[in-house]
Amino acid sequence: MKLTTDQKRFLEQWMDFLKIPSVSADPIHKKDVTQGAEWVKSALLNAGCPHAEIIQTPGHPIVYGEYLLDPSLPTVLVYGHYDVQPADPIDLWDNPPFEPVIKNTAIHPDGAVFARGSCDDKGQMFMHIKAFEVMLSKGSLACNIKFMIEGEEEVGSDNLEDFVKTNKEKLACDIILISDTGMIAQDQPSITTGLRGLSYMEVTITGPNRDLHSGLYGGSVQNPINVLCKMISQLRDENKKITIPGFYEDVIELSTEERAEMDKAPLDLEEFKNSIGIDAIEGEKGFNTEERRSIRPTLDVNGIWGGYTGEGAKTVIPSKAHAKISMRLVPDQDWHQISEQFTDYFKSIAPAGVEVEVITHHGGYAYVTPIETIGYKAAHQAYLETFGKAPIPKRGGGSIPIVPMFEKELGVKSILMGFGLDSDAIHSPNEHYGIFNFFKGIETIPKFYKNYIKLWNQNKSD
Ligand SMILES: [Zn+2]
Repeated sequence: MKLTTDQKRFLEQWMDFLKIPSVSADPIHKKDVTQGAEWVKSALLNAGCPHAEIIQTPGHPIVYGEYLLDPSLPTVLVYGHYDVQPADPIDLWDNPPFEPVIKNTAIHPDGAVFARGSCDDKGQMFMHIKAFEVMLSKGSLACNIKFMIEGEEEVGSDNLEDFVKTNKEKLACDIILISDTGMIAQDQPSITTGLRGLSYMEVTITGPNRDLHSGLYGGSVQNPINVLCKMISQLRDENKKITIPGFYEDVIELSTEERAEMDKAPLDLEEFKNSIGIDAIEGEKGFNTEERRSIRPTLDVNGIWGGYTGEGAKTVIPSKAHAKISMRLVPDQDWHQISEQFTDYFKSIAPAGVEVEVITHHGGYAYVTPIETIGYKAAHQAYLETFGKAPIPKRGGGSIPIVPMFEKELGVKSILMGFGLDSDAIHSPNEHYGIFNFFKGIETIPKFYKNYIKLWNQNKSD
């Protein structure tokens, strides 16, 4: 891959950025995180952004920048983050995590930059600043752009919600653009159209007021662990449907067209099973594996404990048994309501002789971008133009709570234009991001703007 003078400069800047250990989770890196924010502010100004500022929060700062051309034109808000995950375990890195190096791999024959944050999200976020610079220099930018780049994404975006709530006017926009997800493969672009929500519960079953001798009492009183196991088994039926009354009430079923569209990127089941060392799959009847892990809600036990777990044997009927249970949710399930429904149902199936306590830990809403929106269409067209192949809409199984928060507070949809690959090892040792992907992103993003403005104008005149 032959790089132009500009591309070489972009690559150098990106690698320079990666030298800053802006690890938000570790107080020892507080100054480095601040340095990361300053670096982003300068990058915005240098790219031609007339205004950029650092906004302090009780945690790490937010960088805000704006390029306001004309209020009658649409406004795109770019969100990204400059903080990174801790580099641990350091000894599993082939090169120091904050000394970026370029290496070729089988998937990245044109080279990839290896460093913490190379993909998540410094590399992907920086593409937006460089795409902006390119559009400005070509005079092709016909809309307003706002940048909101935070430093706490990897630690739960604690202060972002407050910032958004108190700055709705400043952040007013028509669409939010984010590159913090991935795509299916180098030759198969995809756009993440949905994210699942979450409801996280903890349950405690209490039987007798103390641990009992299983010889003296066994068979005559409720054993909380036995009870807990039976109650958990009642949470799903033989078709692996969740039995909580009302659980599916607000689930939006996908149309046949949407399911067919998703199915264009079929999962290789053998490879899937091999990759995690299992010989059979399971899941909700009527849906395939890809659907089960993206468009359908789930219920899983994440931890279970109680009684004697030390070495050897101890014949005991425990007083208490505990489990942590989480549910991945889909649009339009309300996690507060689901948590309540879970609590009511779980208590209702308890037998006499035990007490049940249920706590809600935390939760989040699911999110979906309909593929009929002009934002999605503009992104679709952009990938098609640069990759020569239509992107596949892909629902993610995980959760990014800020995206539904943006929709709730700002009333706009987000377009998740990711260019990374699952194999880029984000959050893991040897994180990397392909040079091809980086420049493909810088090439594709301006096409999003071009198409978005065109569709926006058409919509307006309709
Ligand atoms: Zn990220």
